[in-house]
Amino acid sequence: MAVTRTFSIIKPDATRRNLTGAVTKKLEDAGLRVVASKRIQMTKEQAEGFYAVHSERPFFNDLVSFMISGPVVVQVLEGENAVKANRDVMGATNPADAAEGTIRKEFAESIEANSVHGSDSEENAKIEIDYFFKADEIVG
Ligand code: UDP
Repeated sequence: MAVTRTFSIIKPDATRRNLTGAVTKKLEDAGLRVVASKRIQMTKEQAEGFYAVHSERPFFNDLVSFMISGPVVVQVLEGENAVKANRDVMGATNPADAAEGTIRKEFAESIEANSVHGSDSEENAKIEIDYFFKADEIVG
């Protein structure tokens, strides 16, 4: 397996409850290395652009409002098969369906306020990393 990168967001429900460290520990324990990290307040335009693929979905407006309701921590994660490793430790979108030991099982509040985002493919990981980070902000 190759060492690859993925993109993660610690969402406002988690930063609000001071869970940045607890979530990051889960990621690190899953074999992922944080090679870039910054705490930002997303703008409405940034959030709409990031979730553009969901713009026709009924939850889009609420999701954008949630994502700008407080600070988020955007991260680049590196590791063996990083996209899958991260998706596995995140757990299912709906915390009610998330497996034991996953971030969403332990920390998520709801299907919307589910503590973390993680890229769903290597192709999207590259796009999402470029959306938030310059090359010199990532130190492997
Ligand atoms: N979401 C929501 N309601 C839904 C489905 C999704 O609010 O019924 C939100 C949730 O925050 C989720 C995000 O939209 O993480 C993106 O949805 P996706 O299906 O891509 O799930 P993910 O890849 O984050 O598990």
